[in-house]
Amino acid sequence: MGKPTGFMEYERELPEERPPAERINDWLEFHLHLPEKKLRTQGARCMDCGVPFCHTGIILGGMTSGCPINNLIPEWNDLVYRGLWREALDRLHKTNNFPEFTGRICPAPCEAACVLGINEPPVTIKNIECAIIDKGFEEGWVVPEPPAKRTGKKVAIVGSGPAGLACAAQLNKAGNWVTVFERADRIGGLLMYGIPNPHLDKNIVQRRIDLLAKEGIKFITNTEVGKDYPSDRLLKEFDAVVLCGGATKPRDLPIEGREFKDIHFAMEFLEANTKSLLDSNLQDGNYITAKDKDVIILGGGDTGTDCVATVIRHGCRSLLQFEILPMPPTERAPDNPWPEWPKVYFLDYGQKEAAAVFGSDPRRYSIMTKRFVGDKKGNVKELHTVRIEWQKGDNGRPVFKEIPDTEKVWPAQLVLLALGFLGPEDNLLNKLGVVRDERSNAKAEYGRFATNIKGVFAAGDMRRGQSLVVWAINEGRSAARECDRYLMGSTNLP
Ligand SMILES: Cc1cc2nc3c(=O)[nH]c(=O)nc-3n(C[C@H](O)[C@H](O)[C@H](O)COP(=O)(O)OP(=O)(O)OC[C@H]3O[C@@H](n4cnc5c(N)ncnc54)[C@H](O)[C@@H]3O)c2cc1C
Ligand code: SF4
Repeated sequence: MGKPTGFMEYERELPEERPPAERINDWLEFHLHLPEKKLRTQGARCMDCGVPFCHTGIILGGMTSGCPINNLIPEWNDLVYRGLWREALDRLHKTNNFPEFTGRICPAPCEAACVLGINEPPVTIKNIECAIIDKGFEEGWVVPEPPAKRTGKKVAIVGSGPAGLACAAQLNKAGNWVTVFERADRIGGLLMYGIPNPHLDKNIVQRRIDLLAKEGIKFITNTEVGKDYPSDRLLKEFDAVVLCGGATKPRDLPIEGREFKDIHFAMEFLEANTKSLLDSNLQDGNYITAKDKDVIILGGGDTGTDCVATVIRHGCRSLLQFEILPMPPTERAPDNPWPEWPKVYFLDYGQKEAAAVFGSDPRRYSIMTKRFVGDKKGNVKELHTVRIEWQKGDNGRPVFKEIPDTEKVWPAQLVLLALGFLGPEDNLLNKLGVVRDERSNAKAEYGRFATNIKGVFAAGDMRRGQSLVVWAINEGRSAARECDRYLMGSTNLP
């Protein structure tokens, strides 16, 4: 611990973001850095407490508490305070293959569990993480490190999201020949085509993919395993397979009028937008535009926020985001104590932008959509909603009831469904004969990651359901360890 009194001397300080009213005019990232001197004083706020909850990474109250990849947070905070950036980078890479992603888009359950956060604002862990890796790239310290020796074993990874990439990086490090199959035309999974560019610049994603390729990992795009590449061929040609195909089946809203045009799943909208942006700077017209439309987004989570940021950049006429759940409290509720993830109200980046354009948060809570209504041409034109009230049901679980006479009609020419995901797609898992768990995910015990098929492992959202990038990295790394053990009889991977 560099400065024992740092937490008493310095206030928490985050870097400024580009102002919302300015950044909505482009698709560039909005993250900025603090100057080095300030970063060092922020590092000095870390108390290096005896039990650093920040790096525990456990599930408490159904939510993540602490860092799921057990980043050595107090160690690198201290190294940053002392100006030992190179050493901090080495510490960071020990547990995290991709800090430039998590340092930008992780919700930072580490900060929610920071001991200083009990009675003071927590240490700015995520921002320090991002600064360490960005400095590492700036200084030229992050270079390809191909393995010195090859084992001769061949591993196929299906899916190139953060789970597949972390798994590939680790298995390659151990000397195995790794091939990653991806059905999209670009590598990265939701890092590439889910999270929009302003939140995570695609050059940053591509920079890491290029490094992995230089380390010897082979990437095959535009190839869906189970369709373009037979699954039995995969089992024949490779010594082991790790399934990292994500949980991409979207939750639908099968109510009256669902068939009208311009009601889309959020991922149809977001993926097409990023592809068109990268292919042609949105000049090819191959995306769903929100320009001059009244837009309603159903679902108040991360995916909904990304839709908010995107429709604002298109120049929508009006914007609302409906959430069926009640508005969260502004402070932790008594049944949601530290170090649990705080279920509190806050403005995420998209809502800040919406507030800058339309004057307020676009979210409306405790509201349920009853039907969509369309025009004669089959286009959606309005949404009918009702207000609901939440109560405790007989079994203690919350249930809702409609409030009479609260039906309301809202104009909408574009509706985006951001209602969550139901699990992995069926085709490949069925073709391979992989047994599912009760939530339809690939069944593979956490810690072992082996499915019922010999030599076939599963990791990331495909195994745990839609989650976080940091959990995908955790699972990719851990499945690599188990896969390497299976191939070699023992393993040095963490
Ligand atoms: C819009 C959106 C925004 C999000 N924002 C955040 C955020 O800000 N922070 C955060 O921590 N988490 C966020 N998440 C969650 C996070 O992105 C996921 O939990 C994470 O990407 C899961 O990683 P994965 O590698 O398991 O799967 P994915 O990233 O989903 O990657 C799976 C890949 O497998 C490919 N694939 C599937 N089947 C096949 C096949 N048969 N053959 C070849 N390829 C196949 C898919 O095309 C896809 O590219 C967000 C999710 C969404 C949808
Ligand atoms: S990966 Fe996420 S939880 Fe872990 S230290 Fe970084 S921001 Fe915190």
